Amino acid sequence: MFRIGFGEDTHRLEEGRKLILGGVDIPFELGLLGHSDADVIIHAIIDALLGASALGDIGMLFPDTDRQYKDISSMVLLTRCADKLREHGFKPINIDVTLIAQRPKLAAYREEMRANIAYALNIAPEFISVKFTTPEHTGPEGNMECMTARAAALIEN
Ligand code: MG
Repeated sequence: MFRIGFGEDTHRLEEGRKLILGGVDIPFELGLLGHSDADVIIHAIIDALLGASALGDIGMLFPDTDRQYKDISSMVLLTRCADKLREHGFKPINIDVTLIAQRPKLAAYREEMRANIAYALNIAPEFISVKFTTPEHTGPEGNMECMTARAAALIEN
């Protein structure tokens, strides 16, 4: 049986933080603030997978009060999420994620992000879609206060 899930996440942009998106370290003057590495793309995907499997949400699985998750790579969290789905008999089929960010230009990093996500989920990169959109200088994303990601995941059991 196929099941679909949706995930969304937002992180604040700050000086003095690394910008990690889709598991790629991107040179930029601002980074995302968070307990982990704040990889907003990966967090949205995790919530989409947990949504599809009805296994809770990222905060339940990896509480930000737990020190073991401080500054952890979100790729590790995605791998653990995939393990949890597998334990429950679910297999990811495909992922579609959109990042809403005014800057920087990210298209050059798309293939590396797809490869990272595909590797963590143990599926082929052709089943991973990573899209970028600019909010045309509107809203908090357009004002460079934050980045937001929205993801859909299809899984099968
Ligand atoms: Mg998050």
